Amino acid sequence: MESLKNYSVLDGEKGDQVLHEKSCAVNLRLLQEGDDYREVIFGIKRGMIRAFNRKYSDYNEIQGISGPNIGIPLRIIAIRIRKKNGDFIDGLPEELSKNRRTKPILFMLNPKISVKSEKIYSIKSNCGSLMLKDPIKVCRHEHIEMVYWDLKGYMHLNGFDKPAAATIQHEIDHLNGLTILDRQVKTEEKDYEG
Ligand SMILES: [Zn+2]
Repeated sequence: MESLKNYSVLDGEKGDQVLHEKSCAVNLRLLQEGDDYREVIFGIKRGMIRAFNRKYSDYNEIQGISGPNIGIPLRIIAIRIRKKNGDFIDGLPEELSKNRRTKPILFMLNPKISVKSEKIYSIKSNCGSLMLKDPIKVCRHEHIEMVYWDLKGYMHLNGFDKPAAATIQHEIDHLNGLTILDRQVKTEEKDYEG
């Protein structure tokens, strides 16, 4: 909480981000018990929704955002799990995609990858904070098992397949001060075999 006072929630415009530092964990006990702290977290949630809406005109174009993208080095990511037409994105666990009432954005606090598939694939990727003219090729695990907490402080265990899994890996990289530039597959390197 103390360290958060040095930051304000921004809209994720270029230059607002804290892209090269490791983010701190959300204090889950304070989230459940501290009204002030909960208000800070919900302020970040609102900032993420603003950033989703403000920066990307095409609803389907961007799938994820992290605390560092809006100037907050805190371990929170958000994944847009429904497309504009209401369909769920591919790769979600049944628990999420079978629940018709699920909101379009999934917030994950203190997300941690507990298991990664050996299978890796390469995709062209861009980043809302970098806005590269041309997407670059990065490698991601096809499947990940996750542990994370929701905004009410409840823990969830879920598995995600590509492409949802790739989006989550991108956002977790941000929490660790890494961007797609750190993951770039150099052209002279051989692609991972599927
Ligand atoms: Zn990014």
